[in-house]
Amino acid sequence: MNNPNLAPVQVDQPSHLMPVFGRQPISFVRGQGCYLYTADGTEYFDALTGIAVCGLGHAHPVIAEAIAEQAHTLLHTSNLYEVPWQTAAAQKLAAVSAMEEVFFSNSGAESNEAAIKIARKYGHQQGIALPKIIVAEKSFHGRTLATLSATGNKKVQQGFEPLVEGFIRVPFGDIEAIQEAALQHPDIVAILVEPIQGEGGINTAPQGFNYLNQLRDICDQQQWLLMLDEVQTGNGRTGQYFAYQHSGILPDVVTTAKGLGNGFPIGAVMTQGRAVGVLGAGNHGSTYSGTALGSRVVYTVIDLIEKEQIIANAANMGQYLVKQLQQQLAQHAIQVRGFGLMIGIELPQDCAALVDIARDQHQLIINVTAGNVIRLLPALNITQAQCDDLTQRLVALIQNHLAENAQ
Ligand SMILES: *Cc1c(COP(=O)(O)O)cnc(C)c1O
Repeated sequence: MNNPNLAPVQVDQPSHLMPVFGRQPISFVRGQGCYLYTADGTEYFDALTGIAVCGLGHAHPVIAEAIAEQAHTLLHTSNLYEVPWQTAAAQKLAAVSAMEEVFFSNSGAESNEAAIKIARKYGHQQGIALPKIIVAEKSFHGRTLATLSATGNKKVQQGFEPLVEGFIRVPFGDIEAIQEAALQHPDIVAILVEPIQGEGGINTAPQGFNYLNQLRDICDQQQWLLMLDEVQTGNGRTGQYFAYQHSGILPDVVTTAKGLGNGFPIGAVMTQGRAVGVLGAGNHGSTYSGTALGSRVVYTVIDLIEKEQIIANAANMGQYLVKQLQQQLAQHAIQVRGFGLMIGIELPQDCAALVDIARDQHQLIINVTAGNVIRLLPALNITQAQCDDLTQRLVALIQNHLAENAQ
């Protein structure tokens, strides 16, 4: 590696980038495991991992090697031919998910688009002309037109009307609202929810993962598809490979992305049960679906998650981290929640300002969702010593904040 601490390119001013992101005044030039480094060599603890993306940490040597070797061999041929790495990656993904069919996409939103298409086609196959999908309040499913329409956040939708039709919204965790919707709308074909809402504030249903069992029952009674958006919760994040594995049920459709490529942009939609075979030849596609490179990354990520016992580590370290935070912040009015290494710390008041303070005063990278929830999504191979490092920075941050707000 040459001059690892140097900025990789000269930055051109003024920027030509569309100003769609509210960017922080910092940039990182390299990463290693749980840590990020700026050009001057300052080290930051990364408790966000690119928003649940780099689950195996930054610059994992085995993934870096797989990418380099494949780049020197073959990047892409198109799906006009069999792609052996794609077949192999699908086999791995099917084995860890217990799902049957896999389609590789390039992002979370695209995976959800495919799920929405599956639900509509499934409906049409049953003679339902205008099929509807139940979605939840405070959900997030992406930024394409169909997925922003499915999303339960007005800010994401505003300015992009007309929205895509065919979504019925219910409160997250509310089974009665779904039963009521079923009575009013004979053309419902599917439910799409996140097992734990990520962008919405690390929300678990009041009944916990039993919510998924209840959704499974309703979907079976009604012959609907149960579709889970595991874009954020998948790939070991919650201490199971997929969050539905906490419940013992299998959904009909699962979408994932984020941690699937550890930073390489790739997603997947998977089917089993009554969703198998709904999409056939000519119904869906993407130029970049499962390139040799992307598929090899997926294969390598899943292989590492298995060989390095990442799932057990995420479960154990998650429990340890939550316990440490609860103990050390016991005298404050905060709530720590989550599963595995998808953790939310809810504060009594708005705390969006903590992102800058954490970064500038504690060299800690976090994010805040839903206004008052600190979101932690650290690397899944975090060690206990690194959990202690993270706890120390967080406790100092939160105690200072609460003391200042009390004055
Ligand atoms: C991030 C996210 C998405 C969107 O994924 P992109 O890759 O940004 O399109 C969809 N659903 C959930 C639950 C997410 O967390």
